[in-house]
Amino acid sequence: MSENKAIVVTAVKTLEIQDLEMPKIGPNEVLYEVHSCSLCTVEQRVYSGAKNFGFPLLGGHENAGVVIAVGDDVREYKVGDKVIATLGYCGECEYCKTGKGSSCKNSMKAKKRVNFPGPIIGGGLAKYLAVPSWQLCKIPDNANFDHFALTEPLACCVHSIEKARVEFGDVVVVIGAGIMGMLHVRLAKLKGAYVIVSEVDQARRLKATEMGADVTVDPSTEDAVARIKELTNNKGADVVINAIATPKIWPDAIGMLAPYGRLVAYSSQDSKEPVGVDMDKLHSKEYEIIGTVSPTMESNLRATKLIALGMVDMEALIDSRYESADCTKAFDRASSPNTYRCIIHI
Ligand SMILES: [Zn+2]
Ligand SMILES: [Zn+2]
Repeated sequence: MSENKAIVVTAVKTLEIQDLEMPKIGPNEVLYEVHSCSLCTVEQRVYSGAKNFGFPLLGGHENAGVVIAVGDDVREYKVGDKVIATLGYCGECEYCKTGKGSSCKNSMKAKKRVNFPGPIIGGGLAKYLAVPSWQLCKIPDNANFDHFALTEPLACCVHSIEKARVEFGDVVVVIGAGIMGMLHVRLAKLKGAYVIVSEVDQARRLKATEMGADVTVDPSTEDAVARIKELTNNKGADVVINAIATPKIWPDAIGMLAPYGRLVAYSSQDSKEPVGVDMDKLHSKEYEIIGTVSPTMESNLRATKLIALGMVDMEALIDSRYESADCTKAFDRASSPNTYRCIIHI
């Protein structure tokens, strides 16, 4: 077995390939060999200095690979199984036990997957990890690791679309056509919705159309709220999903809602400044505001099924692929604007 190489962020804009100890597995764990790891916004923000969880940091929560050893008490997995490892759901707390694992009380306290001195977010930028078996999802024997590395972002959107309770014939507006907006478009279409995308960038609007958007709107040249009203016989949208971080979008997002409309606060926000909401209008129009952050175990499992069945075009969301030795190129590319996902072969 080869050594356990890991791509570590040691400071802003600084990566090192370090040798970590090979993890020892407990009775309920598997030894997991990572093949593909995708760079999520969190790695990009740590690398660029926009977020600081402390250094050194081992990221990589979007990953796919193979089980290469199993503990004595593992029943569901065997050596050679292809899998993805989800974030560190403890499996013990009230939230994990009620399908609300995105609020797991112990995810950051979860047992370390590898001996590493700093914070670990997922850990898939290391070659080998010890992962509790309940944190895995099986993927098919012929799985494309690069596609399944994107299970977590797809699962975030599965969770979001499920919380929005999208139904046949609903009008859904997706604000922002980055990767998360695109996945929302595809999933809303699978749920039978009519999907309108509001996005300033022309290339992204075209891509949104390829992903199935029925109409795209450019809010930099037209009044997006008026356009949504026009497209819906003055009614508004049943669901509005905000996938951008700019707080100034909220008045428009609320303005697009039909009576009984559901507004999904999907994207994290650049600012913690409160946003004014007309609570009387919320009351009289029976609006709902729904927060959603990261996936649950259940949404991860559903996402693996969607990818396995070829129901979401994951290839369309991959910008570029890199070998570990070119990790700096991968992080630089991932951190540049208007980039979809960059994959590193670990
Ligand atoms: Zn992610
Ligand atoms: Zn938990």
